[in-house]
Amino acid sequence: MRWSGGRQGGDIEDRRGMGGGAVGGIGAGGVILALIGYFVFGIDPQTTLETVGQGAPQQQAGAQGAPQDEAGRFVDVIATSVDDVWMQIFRQQGERYTPPKVVLYDQATPTGCGSGQAAMGPFYCPQDQQVYLDLSFWQELSGRFGADGEAARAYVIAHEIGHHVQNLTGQNRTAERMGARGENSGSVRLELQADCYAGVWAAHAEEVSAGQVALNPKDVEDGLRAASAVGDDTLQRQTQGRVVPDAFTHGSSEQRMRWFRVGVETGDPRRCDTFRAPSL
Ligand SMILES: [Zn+2]
Repeated sequence: MRWSGGRQGGDIEDRRGMGGGAVGGIGAGGVILALIGYFVFGIDPQTTLETVGQGAPQQQAGAQGAPQDEAGRFVDVIATSVDDVWMQIFRQQGERYTPPKVVLYDQATPTGCGSGQAAMGPFYCPQDQQVYLDLSFWQELSGRFGADGEAARAYVIAHEIGHHVQNLTGQNRTAERMGARGENSGSVRLELQADCYAGVWAAHAEEVSAGQVALNPKDVEDGLRAASAVGDDTLQRQTQGRVVPDAFTHGSSEQRMRWFRVGVETGDPRRCDTFRAPSL
């Protein structure tokens, strides 16, 4: 995957090295976020999303400016590329796109949706419009999930920013009305749409970045492998030995690959309408 010449947008908040101690009293708060559809893979939100208090977290005094290390630069360049693609798509439709902030953290950090923890995997919080990413997930992605390569990581970043797009367009509120669990739930539709949106980014990355960010066919395969690895059926088989479609939150491996491919092949977000698709 080509990316090193890509633009760094700098809308990254780097909280790495601040330690999980920034979060006090995990689990002490009362509110549990009802909508669970923001994670790359599903974890019972009741165990992970108890908030640490009310309202938005205190502003963190993290290092400002664009990250200079390789791992931080990668996230910055990919997020900037994804934002540039959506900026163009929104503009073509006469709309304005406002990029989300991307927060890098270790272990745990306060968020507008409660305590963010590495075990949750990457997620988007609609309340503060920020993507949260603990980079130790990359090891999990290649180790536990067997999805190697930079393009697999880029797919994850593009998927999370896809949730931001859904927040801007109101599609996440449509999903909330359609249920949090089960094969045809709003959650599954929302997640598959975010996969499709990740594909839309992949389709336009090269053209929008004047060639500085680009995926070749092998990279697209890596992205598809990552989408497959985090399918509900695959994860359920690994963790509980059987597949329970009624508990689906993100869609099957086959569905996640299919919708990512729709995005890559059409480059058209209108083709990502998983809410009206007769079959997923
Ligand atoms: Zn998601």
